[in-house]
Amino acid sequence: MTKINKNFSNLGENYLFAEIARRVNEFKVKNPGRELIRLGIGDVTLPLAPVVVEAMKKGCDELGVKETFKGYPDYEGYLFLREAVAGYYKRFGVKIGTEEIFISDGAKSDAGNIVDLFAPDNRVLVTDPVYPVYVDTNILSGREIVYADSNEDNGFAAMPGQTPPPDLIYLCSPNNPTGTAYTFGQLKAWVDYALENKAVILYDAAYEAFIEDEGKYPRSIFAVDGARRCAIEFASLSKTAGFTGTRCGYTVIPLELEADGMRLRDLWYRRQSTKFNGVSYPVQCAAAAVFSDEGLSQIRENIAYYKENAAIISGTVKRLGWEYTGGVNSPYIWFKCPGNTGSWEFFDTLLNSAGVVGTPGEGFGKNGKGWFRFTAFGSREATASAMNLLDNLYRSDTVRQK
Ligand code: PLP
Repeated sequence: MTKINKNFSNLGENYLFAEIARRVNEFKVKNPGRELIRLGIGDVTLPLAPVVVEAMKKGCDELGVKETFKGYPDYEGYLFLREAVAGYYKRFGVKIGTEEIFISDGAKSDAGNIVDLFAPDNRVLVTDPVYPVYVDTNILSGREIVYADSNEDNGFAAMPGQTPPPDLIYLCSPNNPTGTAYTFGQLKAWVDYALENKAVILYDAAYEAFIEDEGKYPRSIFAVDGARRCAIEFASLSKTAGFTGTRCGYTVIPLELEADGMRLRDLWYRRQSTKFNGVSYPVQCAAAAVFSDEGLSQIRENIAYYKENAAIISGTVKRLGWEYTGGVNSPYIWFKCPGNTGSWEFFDTLLNSAGVVGTPGEGFGKNGKGWFRFTAFGSREATASAMNLLDNLYRSDTVRQK
């Protein structure tokens, strides 16, 4: 008789965005034809950069010609793309070897699949609030999870010191959902803690491209001394270059990183070659174009556009006098719901009174209770109208109360 993985029953009832979709659908049925502005799920809205599209087309053309046709790609990605990624790291002063880079279809898959490398009895630390993928993938493999609080007291930047120490540590900087980023000093404290306790840090750098103050906030954990002996880094072109639909990311595992006497880079190669057959050639061509001078300049324009949206959102939230984090080194603005409203209560008010959809902080963990997330990835028009609606709704409220 077939038996299922019993850990499925330990997962939370509904993936956060599925619950949001359910409430939005209910609203649409009750309010047919009413327009909605979506600043909830963090999907991008600007198209791919022209140089990226050209490279993808060229890749397709090559596949249509006998002499340049290609079959299965290398498991770890084509060398030309791994060289481009290594060159990108070099721009911000981090030296990575091409044999330490693995190309994939995105950071979600890699952050989820990495658990294959580790024994089920590892204790896993995640910061709370948290990107749900780290939690759910470990629940599915039956691991114990401990939570490090990110809250108002520590500026939504959980720090190490937990006893007993965990074996695996997930960090995300700039953070989804709080929009905060770790400074060099804060990240060094995590690296020292991991080295001291022989733990591995799983570092999600999906939003590194949004870091503005590079002197203060590292773009990569490998800019921190000692990280090569204790960290794995995930990165993605989804938010950096609008690849949410195109799909491409990369994971960096330094050669010297070992656990239990095994080189993790070699285990990952073994895992990938067993379960993954690589990313398509045209997509890898497109990804390599992102890291060219022209590509970087074109994607910077898109990032600047989203950052301006972030400034519009944080400007509104600030004017309304609400506490918030993020919005500068991140596409997320994380704010305290007004008047001690609960996250889901605020979600419903915003949806029903203004037709604006955001993300309730509570969906990311207990420290998200009473907090809310907006994304800056919407169009300028949508962002500006949503903020006008918010301003009208709450400023007039304040005025009425006076
Ligand atoms: N990591 C974080 C922190 C994210 O917020 C996201 C997407 O929202 C991802 C990873 C997923 O990235 P990808 O699209 O490359 O799978």
